[in-house]
Parts: sequence; C-alpha cells; structure tokens
Amino acid sequence: MCDLLVLHYGDHISARTLPPVDELVLTILSQNTTDTNARRAFEALKARYSSWDDVAGAPPSDVADAIRSSGAFRVKAKRIQTALREIRRRMGSIDLSSLAEMSLEEAKQFLTSLHGVGPKTAAIVLLFSFHRPVLPVDTHVYRVTRRLGLIDSRVSREKAHIILEGMIPPECIFSLNHNLVRHGRFVCRARSPKCDECFLFEICDYALVGDAGSIRQG
Ligand code: SF4
Repeated sequence: MCDLLVLHYGDHISARTLPPVDELVLTILSQNTTDTNARRAFEALKARYSSWDDVAGAPPSDVADAIRSSGAFRVKAKRIQTALREIRRRMGSIDLSSLAEMSLEEAKQFLTSLHGVGPKTAAIVLLFSFHRPVLPVDTHVYRVTRRLGLIDSRVSREKAHIILEGMIPPECIFSLNHNLVRHGRFVCRARSPKCDECFLFEICDYALVGDAGSIRQG
C-alpha cells in the first residue's frame, strides 16, 4: 500500500520544519479549522509577541484576540498558554529541543501530558520538527486506513495511532502521511469516494465488501 501510494503520488518529505514549540502552537491553532486560518492566527501571534515567554505571560484575552481567525480562540489561547507555562516549568525554559534526546515513547508521553495535546498533535511535532517516525492520524488518515481495512472500523482514533505505527515500516511514514492525506482529500473523500477511479480498489475492503454506512466520516 505504501509502495502504491508512492508510485502514484511520489515519495514526499514534508517541507514543514518549524522549531518544535512553534510547531506545537501551530498545531493547536489548526485544531478544527483550515490550514489557512491556523497559519494566519499563528502569524498574528508571532507579530504581536516577541517571544513565547511573552505569550505565556500575556493576558488571556489579548492572546485570544490575536488568534481570533483560528476559531474557538478562547479555548485555544488557554491551551497554548497552559502548555507554554508547563513546558517552562518542566524544562526550565520554553524549549522542546531536549525531546530529541528522549526515546520516542518518552517524547510522546511528555507531549501528551501537556494540556490540550493529544496523540495527533504530539505526532505532528515529532514527525515534522524532529523527523521521528510517528504517524499523525488526522481525519483523512483515519478514514482511509479504516476503509482499506488496515484497522477495524470501530477502533478509536487514539488507538489507531498505536496500531498503525506498529504495522508501518518507519521509513514509509513520511511519505505515507503526506500521501494518505492527499488521497483522502481528493479521492477517498468522506462523502462519495471515487472508488471507480482509485488505484487502491483491488486492496480495499470498503470497495470490495462495502461498508458505506459505518465509515463515512472520520
Ligand atoms: S477504493 Fe474507494 S474506499 Fe477504497 S481507498 Fe479507494 S476511494 Fe477509498
């Protein structure tokens, strides 16, 4: 499946190489909104404050105002400020570079112990900022891998991180993340997947058996 996706879409390495704290904040901002809105909010935040310490210490309403374009801005401001303060308390400064020295499991545990940080956000930080082989299971990855039959349709998204990571060779993960998202956006869409023009048809449970009711969204 990895090979078929690479043949079709290419062997992509993400161009995103933000420092880890920036990646963490951007990923929190991108929760339940578009990449464009999240990026706009991130840039507004960087323009308003000169450091992450300044963001951590600012009045919550000011931070919320700066990130208004990301939606749910009060909740996200609280998540960002709490996470930044927690990083400072536990690391001595707002710096996540020491995650590079931790085992993958320790790094994941550290990140997911922060307020508002789940397995997907942790995986994005580890994949993009540290090039560690962790697969972020976003809505597209979750839907496509369930339809293909790689994971059971009843498995939660949190559990899907563990199952998929155990079955995918680490060297595939970079391109797989990019290619599954692309496939989910343009071919294996939530509504009306284009199965009749899909190059994965022959190996797809959904196409061969059909399970349209249970794996529509995700
Ligand atoms: S065959 Fe259909 S359901 Fe299966 S991966 Fe392709 S588009 Fe998705």
